[in-house]
Amino acid sequence: DATIEVRGLRKRFGRTLAVDGLSFTVEPGTVTGFVGPNGAGKSTTLRALLGLDAPDEGQALIAGRPYHALRTPLLEVGALLDAAALHPARRGRDHLRWLAHSHGLPVRRVDDVLAQVGLESAARRRAGGYSLGMRQRLGIAAALLGDPPILLLDEPVNGLDPEGIQWIRRLLRRLAAEGRAILVSSHLMSELEDTADHLVVIGRGRLIADTSVSELLHAA
Ligand code: ADP
Ligand code: ADP
Repeated sequence: DATIEVRGLRKRFGRTLAVDGLSFTVEPGTVTGFVGPNGAGKSTTLRALLGLDAPDEGQALIAGRPYHALRTPLLEVGALLDAAALHPARRGRDHLRWLAHSHGLPVRRVDDVLAQVGLESAARRRAGGYSLGMRQRLGIAAALLGDPPILLLDEPVNGLDPEGIQWIRRLLRRLAAEGRAILVSSHLMSELEDTADHLVVIGRGRLIADTSVSELLHAA
């Protein structure tokens, strides 16, 4: 049951109501764009799904459970929250090997995920020469190490050039076609309208729209 479910989520930081009663679902085999201006509550929602911030109210569920109740989290959900912090002298492949090793995943997964994101040869070079797009793809490769059916990606195309955005777009389409449920955030609708099947738009922590992209285009 590879779904992402947010139900009545509410999260306050001091006087800021970051997420204010948000509900939506992401189905398997789809890319859902999670859109809203900076400060709208996207990261807070993703962090709640990943068990990094406890909700004040409501639920953030991965395959029907809160993150902390997952038996094998790395096999159930992969995430990219920030561009990978890579030591410039380190090879991308070694970074992934270290991650696989430290999470008890088979090291052969590293070559599988590098092939998935098209970085087989680039990952043998030192990270100091990587573009932002390559770092983002390496971050997605890291998220895929456990071959999870659910992916959460926070602003993966922010700052990328059109070519880099195209690359991520095709990658996410392919990963969704394999049956994964993908939630991908952006502060710019235009970055996701060609990528997403579905859009969840939020503002000030509240739902503004929850619509299929085809419905949205036909309504326009
Ligand atoms: P987005 O990802 O859409 O840019 P965030 O979820 O990062 O939005 O932030 C939503 C609101 O919550 C913002 O007003 C932000 O400043 C605030 N916020 C987020 N995290 C914290 C925190 N750890 N402490 C205080 N305020 C926070
Ligand atoms: P410890 O449990 O001793 O703190 P870690 O598991 O954090 O060790 O790290 C094990 C090894 O991996 C160390 O040599 C450390 O320098 C290296 N390392 C730590 N964090 C990272 C990272 N994000 N990427 C790659 N290597 C890391």
